[in-house]
Amino acid sequence: MGRAIAIANQKGGVGKTTTAINLSACLAAKRKKVLVIDMDPQGNTTSGFGVEKNELENTVYELILGECSVEECLIKNVVKNVSIIPSNVNLAAAEIELIGVDKKEYILKNEIDWIRDQYDFIIIDCPPSLSMLTINAMTTADTVLVPIQCEYYALEGLSQLIHTVNLVRERLNPTLDIEGIVFTMYDARTNLSMQVVENVKDHLNQKVYKTMIPRNIRLAEAPSYGMPINLYDAKSAGAESYMALADEVIKRKGI
Ligand code: ADP
Ligand code: MG
Repeated sequence: MGRAIAIANQKGGVGKTTTAINLSACLAAKRKKVLVIDMDPQGNTTSGFGVEKNELENTVYELILGECSVEECLIKNVVKNVSIIPSNVNLAAAEIELIGVDKKEYILKNEIDWIRDQYDFIIIDCPPSLSMLTINAMTTADTVLVPIQCEYYALEGLSQLIHTVNLVRERLNPTLDIEGIVFTMYDARTNLSMQVVENVKDHLNQKVYKTMIPRNIRLAEAPSYGMPINLYDAKSAGAESYMALADEVIKRKGI
């Protein structure tokens, strides 16, 4: 059965979407079947795979509201072995539309459960908040992968995120676990990057991936071409690092 990994951190701009796109594409390049679910109304994961997000009839928003089926919103093979359930700005209204809806924490899980076994990995990109969209991602997920940007305020909010994971585990999804912590925008030349890494390792050592994602301009450029990094510039440091991260993620799953 597919392992569902929510990419979450309530801080914006830490590399969640970059990780969702490129980890998915690199897993797919290693012959894993991947489903990507874009749970961020910004829809940057959707456009990062070259999907024109504003021209979609059905997205994860319609799925959550029960207005379409999974088949009707799922786009197959945006790159080889990657399918996506896309999103766009409409999803911003979901939080309000879900008020008073019964079992609203499980809507995504219930929609996805029956297609799980068609994939090796389900990668869910979360919005930069601990909202009902993130909760839906965490009830669907087996694990949470946390990107941390190597900057001064990196650890602010990390304890809140871990608290949220613990609450979801206690009340909604008893088997939810932390998949791992990945450092992004790492710059080995700065003391600050190294200090942040050491600080997190003190707290969560065994969960930290050996692979660190360097700051790499090619990673920032690729989305404007609608391509993941391994297709945009396979020889870049960004591509190499996300390929190595994919290897680690596969190894942890043991497949
Ligand atoms: P989030 O989804 O957490 O808000 P993004 O993945 O959108 O973060 O990244 C924020 C910005 O930083 C984007 O413009 C992205 O292209 C850029 N970025 C992310 N990771 C890297 C990296 N390793 N090197 C260079 N730029 C990056
Ligand atoms: Mg994002």
